[in-house]
Amino acid sequence: MAIELRQLSPVSMDVLIIGGGIIGLSIAVELAKTQGRVGIIDGGFPGTAAQAAAGMLAPGAEQIPPGAMRDLCEASLQCYPAWIQDLEERTGQTTGYWPCGIVVPVTSQAGGHHRGLWLNREQLDQHQPGLGADFIGGWWYPNDGQVDNRLLHAVLYQAAQSLGVQFFSHETVVRIASQGTKITQVVTHEASHQAGHYVLTTGAWTYKLLSLPVRPRKGQMLALQAPHAPGLNQVVFASAYLVPRRDGRLVVGATSEDVGFQDGITAGGLHQLLEAAIQTYPPLRDWPILETWWGYRPVTPDECPILGPSPWENLTLATGHYRNGILLAPITAHLISKYLNGHPWPSELAFCRWDRFGHTLNLL
Ligand SMILES: Cc1cc2nc3c(=O)[nH]c(=O)nc-3n(C[C@H](O)[C@H](O)[C@H](O)COP(=O)(O)OP(=O)(O)OC[C@H]3O[C@@H](n4cnc5c(N)ncnc54)[C@H](O)[C@@H]3O)c2cc1C
Repeated sequence: MAIELRQLSPVSMDVLIIGGGIIGLSIAVELAKTQGRVGIIDGGFPGTAAQAAAGMLAPGAEQIPPGAMRDLCEASLQCYPAWIQDLEERTGQTTGYWPCGIVVPVTSQAGGHHRGLWLNREQLDQHQPGLGADFIGGWWYPNDGQVDNRLLHAVLYQAAQSLGVQFFSHETVVRIASQGTKITQVVTHEASHQAGHYVLTTGAWTYKLLSLPVRPRKGQMLALQAPHAPGLNQVVFASAYLVPRRDGRLVVGATSEDVGFQDGITAGGLHQLLEAAIQTYPPLRDWPILETWWGYRPVTPDECPILGPSPWENLTLATGHYRNGILLAPITAHLISKYLNGHPWPSELAFCRWDRFGHTLNLL
């Protein structure tokens, strides 16, 4: 199918994506399926959310309030099976996608936006034996699930390569240059790059290039080794969340810290995670620790992503996915690709536009 891209121009690439995390790669793959010259620049920063995340696909367990944001999350969850099938067929690799459901054990039934299936304690024990004694029951979300975000990132990278996407790895964009309403080039330490259209997918680092209100929200995480694979029957989401990978690795998350880009694991962070994890599922007290890590969620003031047009006619935005960027990757890729192929930005997605914050935008 011939695709008419916005702002086609006789430069080296049709579309240049700035940021090769889960969002940038998902968009690159989607765009490259239908047209040729897509490039992607990535600085390889430590603490990228793509590597750090737990990979939960959890519009239910996350208790996203009813409204446009929840609808977007639900729509993305629906995209997952076909999106994963396509990626896995293209690459012959697994993403660890597992629609295993998520259970949310609680100590009281009051509060929250829960809309799952209620399980009393006896039913909870049938679902997941061994949970902490304080839980009176839990909410069951059969449609929620998980993907191994690190495998997904690797599969997306491989799919993008096989589709001819050009990679500029370990290049950090230091400046985006404009003239009037057009972006003219992006400048890295090594080179300057030009394209017909640019897509900004720089996650928590976005505000270093453009005055958007996206900030880092640090999360510390750890992984344990279960004695048998998988360690649990489904994801368990309490004051810590426990995400069992099929190979026996149990991912435990996460702190939520407003400390800027302060790298590293702290004693307090680990203590918080381990205490909550052991309370949630006491048997894991004896499991060995495999790894600890941290990363930065890109948070916005209203916790919704920033998607779609910008004040520059050839710059599109896809950032600020906060806690749900793994979940939102397929719908983001679909929407941005559709927009770049000439469709107007949908009016029901006005809640994602940059101008909802009511201030002007400057390149930095
Ligand atoms: C601890 C933790 C747990 C999470 N758990 C979940 C979960 O269970 N489910 C879920 O759906 N989401 C989860 N998230 C959120 C999710 O990971 C993010 O929303 C998502 O990864 C954001 O994707 P991104 O591509 O925008 O950002 P990132 O994945 O961070 O990628 C941004 C990329 O941009 C590059 N970059 C930035 N600036 C520049 C520059 N100037 N020049 C060149 N390259 C640049 C970086 O190197 C990086 O590769 C979690 C996040 C964290 C931190």
